[in-house]
Amino acid sequence: MIYLEKSAAGSKMAEFLDKKGRSIIEVEDGFTPENSKENILITSQRNTFVHKCPATKIYRCCGLNVADVIEGCPFDCTYCILQSYLNHEYIKVYGNLDGIEEEMRAFNSQGKGRLCTGELSDSLALDGMLGLSEFFVPIANQLDNIQFELKTKSACVDRLLKLNPKNIIISFSLNPQEIITKEEHGTANLKNRLNAAKMCAEHGYRLAFHFDPIIYYDNFENGYRELIKELTSVINQDSVEYISMSTFRFMPELITIIRDKFDRSILTGQEYITSLDGKMRYPKHLRSHMLKTVVRFIKSDWKDVFIYFCMEHSSIWEKIFGGDPGERDELEALFPHYRAKS
Ligand code: SF4
Repeated sequence: MIYLEKSAAGSKMAEFLDKKGRSIIEVEDGFTPENSKENILITSQRNTFVHKCPATKIYRCCGLNVADVIEGCPFDCTYCILQSYLNHEYIKVYGNLDGIEEEMRAFNSQGKGRLCTGELSDSLALDGMLGLSEFFVPIANQLDNIQFELKTKSACVDRLLKLNPKNIIISFSLNPQEIITKEEHGTANLKNRLNAAKMCAEHGYRLAFHFDPIIYYDNFENGYRELIKELTSVINQDSVEYISMSTFRFMPELITIIRDKFDRSILTGQEYITSLDGKMRYPKHLRSHMLKTVVRFIKSDWKDVFIYFCMEHSSIWEKIFGGDPGERDELEALFPHYRAKS
């Protein structure tokens, strides 16, 4: 069900949904929908949309900027941080699209930058219903300093195939199918994600892939080897802008939520340590082994692709890549977007 706060009735988002003929229930401001992922609330509340992805100095950060218009996700991944971060299951959508457009234009005027919408939701999971790609993509097409990323575990790319791919990255988070089945409830299966990626590449979009979170389990080596074989046989390296990697990490309270909510998650039977930023991670030797293994599998097929680690310690960078990429700006400057001629 889509609920619209009265004071959001004139918003661009409401106009957008009206044009698409969506059925909407108007509600008083402050209304709280039943706490279900099936409910969407369009709110008139104000928000600052564009901001730096939260990071600590202890681990290397890529300097990504995020723009959160949607809070909440129809998918139900066992490891999703939103379960401990948001205090609601229903999906909140900020109606003030004019506000985000202004912030995107201001961001573009500051020089080159990377901007992604997938921090507090999946960027495309609701695209069939809300059609927000038709709002974001034409704006990003005009903003040549920005590389605008839509990040997903869905295969919802139909609308994208009618839009201009200029300045846009479509990124897919990947895991072996057995992990998708056990841990990424409601998401597209691996085959469909890869087919969607292929269609996007054929349409002219640049692609990215996120191996995040990489999960340790009995069949870890075989699982990731097969996944990468499938990826590199379906997708051409030339269409890939970058690949990110990170092992599963979480705030301590998340593991209790996972235990209470999901029956057979692989994540609850593992050993974790408390790391320097207070999050739980696999022990360092295991993280290093996992990242090294996945890098090796990728590099054996795609020698030239740009790979970075999301929030990993400089010593792991040194061990696997032979050097520390440095603080935010230094790591960010390594991305193809900054090396491309303007
Ligand atoms: S797709 Fe992302 S935002 Fe959605 S449930 Fe999974 S981890 Fe959370």
